[in-house]
Amino acid sequence: MANASSSLAQLTRIAALDDNYIWLLANPSSHELAIIDPGEAEPVIAWLDEHGLTPTEIVNTHHHGDHINGNKTLAERYGIPLTGPVAEEARIHGMTRMVAGGDQLAIAGYSAQVIETPGHTTGHVAFYLPDCFGDHGVAFVGDTLFSMGCGRVFEGSMTEMWTSLAALRQLPDTTIICCGHEYTASNARYVAQLGWQAPSLDAKLAEIKTLTDQGKATVPVRLGDEKAVNPFLCADDPMLAKALGCDGADAIEVFTALRTGKDNFRG
Ligand SMILES: [Zn+2]
Repeated sequence: MANASSSLAQLTRIAALDDNYIWLLANPSSHELAIIDPGEAEPVIAWLDEHGLTPTEIVNTHHHGDHINGNKTLAERYGIPLTGPVAEEARIHGMTRMVAGGDQLAIAGYSAQVIETPGHTTGHVAFYLPDCFGDHGVAFVGDTLFSMGCGRVFEGSMTEMWTSLAALRQLPDTTIICCGHEYTASNARYVAQLGWQAPSLDAKLAEIKTLTDQGKATVPVRLGDEKAVNPFLCADDPMLAKALGCDGADAIEVFTALRTGKDNFRG
C-alpha cells in the first residue's frame, strides 16, 4: 500500500501563468502519465524534458483558456488524446474522448469517475480517482473547489455551484484535492474576517501564512481537512449562517451570501 510520501511522488504540481497549477499524474506500473488542465505548454514540456518522461494523455475540467491553452501544442508534440466534458464540446477543440457526469473511465491507467460540477462554467466536471494511491484517492476539481474557497460562479447558478461543492464534499475525507489555482492566501484573508468560529480555523490560517510567507504552495489539500475550514463547503452549517448575519437561512442563501461577499472582497 502506498504511503503518503510515495503517493505524492506520483503527483506533480507545475505552476503556470500567474497563479495556475497544471497537474501531472503518473502511473509507475503502466508508465502512463496524464496532464490535467495545461493552461500553457512550455512549463510542462520543460518538466517532462528534465525528467525524461513522455505524457500519454491530456485531461480538461472546463473550457477556460488558462486550463486548455496548452492542449494543442502538447497533443501535437506527443500525439496524445484529449479528454474533456462533452457539455463544453464547442469550446474545447480537439477532444478525442468526451465525458459526462457519472461516466467511468481510465486516466493514466487508474479508474476514474466523472462528477458533474457546474457553476463556474456550465459544463465543468471533476475527475475522482478513488484508488490510484492504494489507500486514498485524488480528485482533480479544476476551478470548482479551492483551498479555503471556491470558483467564481461565471456561467451557472449559485444553486448549481453549491450542489457541485456538496457533491465533492461527499468524497472520502482522505481524498487529495488538486485545484486549478493558488488562491489560498486571498481566500484565507476573506475567511478570517467572517467571524466564523470553526475549531481548526486558526491553526489553518497560521499554516497558510507560514507557507505563503515562504513562497510555498498551499495545495494539494486533504478533503477532510478542508471540510473543517472551508466555509464554502459548510453553507449548511447554522453557525456559519449566524456569523454571516443570516441566521436560519438555507444553505443556498448562505452560500450566495458567502460567494457574493468574496466577489466584493478587497483584502
Ligand atoms: Zn476557470
